[in-house]
Amino acid sequence: MNHATANHSTANRYDVVVAGAGISGLVDAILMAETGRRVVVFEQHLIPGGYLQQFKRKKTKFDVGFHYMGSTAPGHPMRQFLEHLDVWRRLDVIALPADRAIEVREGDRVFGYPTTWERFREKCHTTWPHQRDVIDRVIQECDELCAEFKWFALRKGPDYQNPLDMKHAPMSFEQYMEPFVEDDWLRRVLSFMTFNLGLYAAEIPWVKHFLAFRSNFDETSRISGGGGALVDALVERGRELGVEYQFRNGIERLECDGRQVEYAEAADGTRVSADTYIAACHPKVVMEWISDDQLKPMYKDRIRNLKDSRGAVQLFLRLSEPIESIGDACVMIHDPAEASRDLPLSTLLVTQPSAVEGDGPARLEAMTYMHQAPFDAWLGTRVLKRGEGYERVKRELADRMIGIISKMAPELSSRIVDVYTATPLTDEHYTRNTRGSVFGISHELDQQGMNRPMPRMRIRNLFFTGHSITMPGICGTFINAFDTCDLIRGDSVLFDRVSV
Ligand SMILES: Cc1cc2nc3c(=O)[nH]c(=O)nc-3n(C[C@H](O)[C@H](O)[C@H](O)COP(=O)(O)OP(=O)(O)OC[C@H]3O[C@@H](n4cnc5c(N)ncnc54)[C@H](O)[C@@H]3O)c2cc1C
Repeated sequence: MNHATANHSTANRYDVVVAGAGISGLVDAILMAETGRRVVVFEQHLIPGGYLQQFKRKKTKFDVGFHYMGSTAPGHPMRQFLEHLDVWRRLDVIALPADRAIEVREGDRVFGYPTTWERFREKCHTTWPHQRDVIDRVIQECDELCAEFKWFALRKGPDYQNPLDMKHAPMSFEQYMEPFVEDDWLRRVLSFMTFNLGLYAAEIPWVKHFLAFRSNFDETSRISGGGGALVDALVERGRELGVEYQFRNGIERLECDGRQVEYAEAADGTRVSADTYIAACHPKVVMEWISDDQLKPMYKDRIRNLKDSRGAVQLFLRLSEPIESIGDACVMIHDPAEASRDLPLSTLLVTQPSAVEGDGPARLEAMTYMHQAPFDAWLGTRVLKRGEGYERVKRELADRMIGIISKMAPELSSRIVDVYTATPLTDEHYTRNTRGSVFGISHELDQQGMNRPMPRMRIRNLFFTGHSITMPGICGTFINAFDTCDLIRGDSVLFDRVSV
């Protein structure tokens, strides 16, 4: 007898099973439940949030994967999505400083990105008066590109083409700039934010950079309470709509019959069947749930062989007093002296949530990217049981990061009260993103266009979403959730509701 048929009758029945309670899974659950569908979310960890979870040390909360949120202006994607989800009104959104929401520092050179796109253009004109044509061309081409992407433009009616298909111009942002952006500092200012996808300008598809770059402007903001506040609001909304959440109970197996999932089996042995299954976790994890006779090894290998994005090393400091020179901006420090060493991007993103939110103990959070290889020695070891060698590597990394920040803020070391660090192994443990990849599957050039992972896969009622698909980051993850659910709901009603 077919294994699937034999157990089918014993499975609990839902309309939708979501695997993963990161922000993508939480948004999917709401979008499916708001249609009256019965939804259950399974999460392997004991709390929701994935990379947006927080941890607490000595009564101080730190954010893992949240520094700032891009544009929240009316009509822009995040605002439209949050309002549709009935989550916007639950958040206290704080605008970052108008003239330096994000500030980049490289040696003596400093550039503060203003919060509005128009002001950015004006500031570029003032800074590079002889490059006005170049600046206007970049701004215009970025605007044209964004207008082509349905989930960014959010305009009813036009016949959109998806620029991420990259049929006509598969080039990196470096290649895009090569023929006409000559000024070195202007090139750096246009490409610094490729950091936000963990890639160099030579690696990132120009279309992806433009979408991500533009999403930083117009009411660049932070949420009071950090990523945890967004997660709490999403869970609260889901509960109102009847979503069931099961924590510490990850999905471990999918039983398929032909090209259809019959039921999902969770870690505690529970079996659940549904019309639709949404995998809101790393796609490589999903490949482990399906046996080779149910999904061709060739397809699985294609997913498994995709390169993951880089891992992160993170520094969390409790301070006796805030650092004035960092203030309430998001500061990106590029230290050329580190470029030849093993922090691949040699840039640090530094924030002081306490300075933005104006309450809580003074704290500073910083991150950079890291090759995963130095941590291979501890693969398979358990969290908190990795031994002195691992702790030493973490201390060395923390010292290096503190050293980089101290070059712009010499007072830092005298104000440190406590130091905590996280590595790609920490992130992998809590989220199961393969090797702690910050954005899941890498968004680099040769994995884009038709090679990128898509929401629809070979199994008809199983869908991918989350930051490996389409766009990464908070805004990207929301876009993917809306895109996947629009596809499942199948009537474009969702798009019509969020468009303006
Ligand atoms: C250090 C760092 C800093 C960042 N800073 C920013 C920022 O400032 N702004 C921004 O926009 N973005 C930022 N990001 C990116 C952003 O946090 C992520 O892109 C986003 O949170 C990804 O959400 P997700 O739901 O797609 O994936 P995840 O957060 O990875 O969620 C996946 C979930 O699936 C669960 N799961 C895994 N396996 C199973 C299983 N078998 N069964 C059930 N559940 C399972 C995991 O436990 C996890 O909860 C940052 C990321 C990092 C790591």
